[in-house]
Amino acid sequence: MTATISHWVNGEVFTGTSSASAPVTNPATGTVTGQVALASVDDARAVIDAAAAAFPAWRDASLAKRTSVLFRFRELLNERKGELAEIITAEHGKVVSDALGEVSRGQEVVEFACGIPHLLKGGFTENASTKVDVYSIRQPLGPVAVISPFNFPAMVPMWFFPIAIATGNTVVLKPSEKDPSASLWLAALWKEAGLPDGVFNVLQGDKTAVDELLANPKIKSVSFVGSTPIAQYVYATGTAAGKRVQALGGAKNHAVILPDADLDLAADAMVNAGFGSAGERCMAISACVAVGPIADDLVAKIRERTVGLKIGDGTKESDMGPLVTQAHRDKVASYIDAGEADGAKVVVDGRSVGSEGAPERDPAGFWLGPTLLDNVTPEMSVYTDEIFGPVLSVLRVESYDQALELINTNPYGNGTAIFTNDGGAARRFQNEVEVGMVGINVPIPVPMAYFSFGGWKASLFGDSHAHGMDGVQFFTRQKAVTQRWLDPSHGGINLGFPQNG
Ligand code: NAD
Repeated sequence: MTATISHWVNGEVFTGTSSASAPVTNPATGTVTGQVALASVDDARAVIDAAAAAFPAWRDASLAKRTSVLFRFRELLNERKGELAEIITAEHGKVVSDALGEVSRGQEVVEFACGIPHLLKGGFTENASTKVDVYSIRQPLGPVAVISPFNFPAMVPMWFFPIAIATGNTVVLKPSEKDPSASLWLAALWKEAGLPDGVFNVLQGDKTAVDELLANPKIKSVSFVGSTPIAQYVYATGTAAGKRVQALGGAKNHAVILPDADLDLAADAMVNAGFGSAGERCMAISACVAVGPIADDLVAKIRERTVGLKIGDGTKESDMGPLVTQAHRDKVASYIDAGEADGAKVVVDGRSVGSEGAPERDPAGFWLGPTLLDNVTPEMSVYTDEIFGPVLSVLRVESYDQALELINTNPYGNGTAIFTNDGGAARRFQNEVEVGMVGINVPIPVPMAYFSFGGWKASLFGDSHAHGMDGVQFFTRQKAVTQRWLDPSHGGINLGFPQNG
């Protein structure tokens, strides 16, 4: 039996009118478990209309009402996040503990949004001019769109929708068609938490759905996360239609290991950040830059840890699960082929990981083991392209300056890390590196919810990062009010430009 995965509108499942659908698979077994609806333009309009109809009442809902729903949503999510983690594992493939981690990081944004009354306070100036006061308020935009990638089906949408809802907007979430079920679980949880119908809606689909969200004048802003070419397209198309757009793109994250670093700590970090979630993280480390004479020792330590990893079904206490689809698995494997052909040394070969003799790996699953490549050089495709799989490339350089130049000339700028015991070098790196999120002896520096998440260069289009105060500002428009009361001597007729006195 395969499930039908539909849209969610006005607090209930909406099947839509389109007969188009796409298969959803369990990557650990290769089984098709569901068919997700692919919206037609009419379906998309029906969802957008529902969000538009719900907006006036939600905009006017008191902050006390909004926060009571948010607190309830947080409590329900916290109690039941195990259910959501299992749904994520069943469609994405990541191990359950990792899926739970993703939900917890999303929950932090819900917790941040629970403080919205404080975050939304405007400024007030008394007597800006004689008996004239000036104040500012922040108001919601209207119906807003969130378009998310496959790799974090719960956390990435939660970077945006808790703050969008807390600030009084209504939401249309367009999840990835590869793992769409988490969105419906979250929608049902909002209903249980008491969110009025129509405030949070889910539109399943592909380019047709996205294009309608970008073109439809009722949608006031677009928060996109995905690959760079689509991020660029979404940014260009959405802004040309007059919308506020933040579009987070792909990544190629480097870690620099200086000669004075603790190599055991660095090797642990490279394995965790390179192979966690099978490398399908936008903050995964895919380029390890070994500086000076430590490279041989470092590669040996990473190798030793990598060969001990248990690859298998994410529900069976594995360290690393399968890749999301067979096609993606094959594409990642082809990069390993290309790296080898270009002269990189294959130190650990994930292509040899199959199902033979491994009961935790179903023969039909999308398996590819962690792969360690040494002597990678900047022209190789394994370095130039975002691979988005469990492939860690080691590049050898002579100096800190060469390492920095590699990173700063790379088109992407999402995350980076430096491993060192030299505070001065770390301070220099955080100052000089052209990347949005920096770790110092921390390999995956994903900021807390009250800071903002975002990369530089081809990793983000737009000037607003996700969540934190950037999120509050993105989902609100500022209005400044100038008022005068009880002043009979207003100055009479004067056609000059208003001046303060
Ligand atoms: P993707 O770009 O293929 O898809 C992202 C979203 O765009 C999905 O909802 C998809 O349905 C939609 N989409 C796909 N093709 C489209 C098209 N031609 N027109 C309109 N919409 C389209 O990305 P993905 O494979 O789902 O996710 C992996 C990518 O996301 C990686 O590049 C990764 O680095 C990136 N990512 C970035 C961040 C970040 O914070 N910068 C976070 C997570 C993932």
